[in-house]
Formats: sequence, structure tokens, C-alpha cells
Amino acid sequence: MSIEENIKGVKNNLPEGVTLIAVSKTKPISLIKEAYDFGIRDFGENKVQELVNKYDKLPDDIRWHMIGHLQRNKVKYIVGKVYLIHSLDSVRLLDEIEKQYKNGGKVCNALIQINIGKEESKTGIYLENLEELIKKCEQCTNVNIKGLMAVIPKGDERTCRMYFNQMKNIFDNLKRRKFKNIEMDILSMGMTHDYRYAVEEGSNMVRVGEGVFGKRDYNNK
Ligand SMILES: *Cc1c(COP(=O)(O)O)cnc(C)c1O
Repeated sequence: MSIEENIKGVKNNLPEGVTLIAVSKTKPISLIKEAYDFGIRDFGENKVQELVNKYDKLPDDIRWHMIGHLQRNKVKYIVGKVYLIHSLDSVRLLDEIEKQYKNGGKVCNALIQINIGKEESKTGIYLENLEELIKKCEQCTNVNIKGLMAVIPKGDERTCRMYFNQMKNIFDNLKRRKFKNIEMDILSMGMTHDYRYAVEEGSNMVRVGEGVFGKRDYNNK
């Protein structure tokens, strides 16, 4: 299947109002251009170095999404280059983002990543630490929170739906409250194998990699 056919197929499965992020990690510029020429403007990367390299080589109207774990010492490289950080998951990272964006005279849009399955192998904040992070976000001047993101544990349809549904409930409950600097507009969840369930459970931003670009080859990098 070509990238064009893949994009058509995924878009056919997405209701209006759901944003498709084409996850382009490990994929070359030429393939990203193909997706771009077919109308995709939102691209997701999980490594700062790779994102910055691609940023320099591709058109300005691309919205780059930082979807991978963000190390504090790398924040300074992405100021002004990233449309949305999906992986804010600690007060320490928040402090660094606030500092670097303030220095650069920019405002950062970010999602809070929740480790909904409490998996040690995954990043994201545990639910019990969420309120503390929210309080700190309210004190920021250069960070705006736009919603939530999750990478759920691997599982069958029923398990996937359960986690997506938990996320939607957390999202809706926060949406009802009033915060400074925090709006609940974006719920980023769903990948190639489960984005259809995610959307049915309330996601409005899906991150699809292999479903757009084909299988990733990490040896080929
Ligand atoms: C790689 C990645 C994706 C895309 O995964 P696919 O299975 O290729 O769709 C989505 N979200 C995050 C955080 C990723 O690292």
C-alpha cells in the first residue's frame, strides 16, 4: 500500500474533528514529503535530535508534535519549533520548559501525559501525582496546557477500551473544573492498532505511525 492509500484509509475511519498525527519517527524526509504533498501537516517525532533535523529540512507550515519522552537537557533545542509537546509528565520537566520558553520569549503548548496503566516501563505521570502537576502548571507564565495524552498498555479490544474510557473520564472531569493556563481541548490517544477504539471512546487526536508510513526498521536508522 502507498502512503497515499494509507492516509486515505485512516482518514476514512476518523470522524470530523479528530486530528491525525502522522508519526514519522525513523522515516526519511522523502516519505514525509509524500505525506505532506497528500495534505498532512501534523507530524509526530519522539526524539529531539531527529525532530530538529527534520524541522530544518521541511516546510514551515508543518506542525511538529513531540510525542516521546522529553529529557530536561533537550528542552532548549525545541523552543519555538514544536507545535505541541504531548509528553509533559513531571514538575521537574515543567520547570525546565517554563524556564527555557521564558528565555526564548515563547509560550509552550503542552499535553499532560498520564501513565494510565501504571507501567514501570512507560513514562507519563501517575494519576495520584496529577493534581500536584496541575497546581504547578497554574503558576506558569509560559506554558499552556491543552489537554491529556496517554500510551495505553498492550491488550485486547476490551482492555484498550477500558483504558481509553478511563482517560476520557479524567479528561471530562478536569474539563468541568476551572484552572489558570489549563484547558481540556485535546485528548491524544490511539495508535495504529487501536486508534479506532480510541476515537470511539472519545479521543480527538490520534498518533498513527506504521498505519501511515508502513513498518519501521530501527536497524536501518
Ligand atoms: C511510535 C509512537 C506512535 C505511533 O505508533 P504506531 O504503532 O506506529 O502507530 C504513537 N505514539 C507514540 C508516543 C509513539 O512513540
